[in-house]
Amino acid sequence: MQLTVDALVVRVRNMDELDRLVVLLTADRGLVTAYMKGARRTKGASASATELLSYSHFVLFQNRDRTFVDRAEPNRLFFALRQDMEALSLATYFCQLLTELVPEGEPGDGPLRLALNCLHCLDKKQLERPQIKAIFELRLLTMAGYMPDLVACARCGCAPEEGVWFDPGQGVIYCPGCHDDAAGPGAIPVSAGVFTAMRHILYSDFEKLFAFRLSPQSLEELQRVSEAYLLARVERVLPALDFYKTILQPPAKKETP
Ligand SMILES: [Zn+2]
Repeated sequence: MQLTVDALVVRVRNMDELDRLVVLLTADRGLVTAYMKGARRTKGASASATELLSYSHFVLFQNRDRTFVDRAEPNRLFFALRQDMEALSLATYFCQLLTELVPEGEPGDGPLRLALNCLHCLDKKQLERPQIKAIFELRLLTMAGYMPDLVACARCGCAPEEGVWFDPGQGVIYCPGCHDDAAGPGAIPVSAGVFTAMRHILYSDFEKLFAFRLSPQSLEELQRVSEAYLLARVERVLPALDFYKTILQPPAKKETP
């Protein structure tokens, strides 16, 4: 059976000297694993179409229970992003999250749209990276069924605007009055601006998702809170995230003897 899809390549693994396995994020079929025979001999457009982070048009065929790539042509390769180590490592981390969080056997249109928009922002240097990262993490978690409850205090039910504490372990908030008694040890105080931004990322229409502004300091805070929640939900080592953070660090000064 033959099938054509537009898909983002979210994982690439070389199988042996010639063959390669790719994981594709598609709108209709979610994640699709496909084999490419002789992939590493291919050159030109077809080769770049099947690299990590390429958004391409694929002709696939199914044989028994395996899917194979017959042809691939690039739609969008995000060239600028690939030239920038920091952007590239962040995008690679996004790919790892997609393979972890997109549910098997379900349509992937939401995550695909989110990923393509975030990659576009990285490629065109629209928005600061901490903002893109937090939007991607929180919105993807929401799509994957891990939406935190930011509506009301988990203990008294009030709707606090300020002095909110976010508990990443439970995915809930506490008002200033309840925090001492009810919040877990990992709870984080969240400033009013960052709290508003978090609610925007969770609840806004997709068209408005990227349309908010925060100071650099607040973006750092947003990034910290978002990542704490992500790590509490995913509970796995994420090598691509660790690598991204290593890249962000300024090189250590060599000690002179
Ligand atoms: Zn309360």
